[in-house]
Amino acid sequence: MALRIGIDVGGTNLRVGVFDGLKLLHQQRFQADFSALCKQQPNQALERIIDLLAEQISSVLQQYPQVESVGIGFPGFIDPVTQAIIQSPNLPGLHHAHIAKPVASTIKRPVHIENDALCAALAEYHLAQLAPPQSLMYIGLGTGIGGGLIYLGQPFPGDHGVAMEFGHLIVVPDGRLCGCGNHGCVEQYASAGGVVQNYAQASGQHLSAQQISQKAQQGDVAAQQAFAEAGRYLAIAMAHAAKIVDIQHWVLGGGVMQAQDWILPALRQQLEWDLIPVLRGALDIRVSQSDDIAGMLGAALLA
Ligand SMILES: [Zn+2]
Repeated sequence: MALRIGIDVGGTNLRVGVFDGLKLLHQQRFQADFSALCKQQPNQALERIIDLLAEQISSVLQQYPQVESVGIGFPGFIDPVTQAIIQSPNLPGLHHAHIAKPVASTIKRPVHIENDALCAALAEYHLAQLAPPQSLMYIGLGTGIGGGLIYLGQPFPGDHGVAMEFGHLIVVPDGRLCGCGNHGCVEQYASAGGVVQNYAQASGQHLSAQQISQKAQQGDVAAQQAFAEAGRYLAIAMAHAAKIVDIQHWVLGGGVMQAQDWILPALRQQLEWDLIPVLRGALDIRVSQSDDIAGMLGAALLA
């Protein structure tokens, strides 16, 4: 059986998994703060990212020389035709940057690069044992909010690699300023940073999303409401999307969903209000059970 490597490029680290089909044989985590690198040394960042990726894949290949191909899940918009990183909102300075080709020539194996949320969506599709003509929408709630659609069994990147850019659906006209330059994007209400702002607005206290989650578990009503608010705004965005692409299966992932006990009831209530009647109660909404490996697995499946 052909082995494949799947890589999940995160904010401060890189996770590399070796897969036999859906089965994870081995995984390794490497420290790699690409975000700091892009900010501190923008001119050398691309070269350093390529070198780091090639180095770390090579070290895993020494253990698993039978690996045939490599997939990279990357936080950015990937040109579906040329595989160039068109732009990465969290890794400034990467414009039309090619990573897959130079890494492939170093490690002597084909390399495929894809948006990280789209990779996670593909993994969830396979883990849920769906098959065409079924489709699945994935939304990842972490530092930002990403989305990916598997349409009739196929990843749907869009013509410019920016399809399902959920985080920037506007849910509050003239709302909070977003990193994309617009106001009121759902990312500003339902990402980890959004929850921090929800809580600060209600309590006057500035805590991390993790701390707010702990407070919610201890019964802090303002903390619970900060997550419920996230759920409500996410539902508004989901209802808009469901009217454009009528998808049955939805998976919600990312660290923020650890507070699902407070997010989901508010989300379901708001969805009932906002969906067109024929879709009410018809969507299958689940929380990811495989967050740890979904990004790596999806990248490997695309390799
Ligand atoms: Zn935005």
